[in-house]
Amino acid sequence: MTTFALLASLAILGYAAFYLLWCAQFPFSRCRRRRCENGRVYSRLSRKAFRDCPRCEGTGKRVRLGRRVYEYFRGEHKAGNQ
Ligand SMILES: [Zn+2]
Repeated sequence: MTTFALLASLAILGYAAFYLLWCAQFPFSRCRRRRCENGRVYSRLSRKAFRDCPRCEGTGKRVRLGRRVYEYFRGEHKAGNQ
């Protein structure tokens, strides 16, 4: 039973490490707001009327959570090695 628990925790750790590396490589994913199209939110009445998406501030991109974790650890590492 202990080996199973060990394997399971190793798998989770491996998955987390892979996810963090993935986020370091590709820090952005698409904006999650449903009506946002590349940073624009169109009016319901017309396709000609739109404004910048407030959630992604008109970029259409979103910083992944894992990227923030990665940057936090990188900042800590830098602060500790001066
Ligand atoms: Zn957006």
